[in-house]
Amino acid sequence: MARSQPSDQRLERRAQVLNERHFGGRLTWTSVGFADMSHRWGSCTFTAGEIRIASRAASLPEWVLDYLLVHELAHLEHSDHGAAFHELEERYPLTERAKGYLMALDHQLSTPHPDPLPKGERENSARHPLGFNRPARS
Ligand SMILES: [Zn+2]
Repeated sequence: MARSQPSDQRLERRAQVLNERHFGGRLTWTSVGFADMSHRWGSCTFTAGEIRIASRAASLPEWVLDYLLVHELAHLEHSDHGAAFHELEERYPLTERAKGYLMALDHQLSTPHPDPLPKGERENSARHPLGFNRPARS
């Protein structure tokens, strides 16, 4: 399995399909790939357009992986988790189910978050129990 590569073909293809299906094909990004993240499922660098999905997510069911991509794709337009973001995220019909699936997984692993939260991220993380990375500022 390709890891930590700039772009992953499988993710790139899925992202294109999801972009067409749920975002009218209007999103653009620079790369989509897997990366080693033990406490997060994905991240999106808002300004650079780089989407990373946790390597451990590669073995998740396709529809859960799709949700992770939709979540990070939506961050290309909204860097926060506000109402507009959720409107986009919920265009994917299995969003709620996928969140539940990941919550159960995270609960099972139940690793306390060891990384101190950067300033200002406290509120966001509390509202976002799935451990998604907030888009990094550059
Ligand atoms: Zn997020």
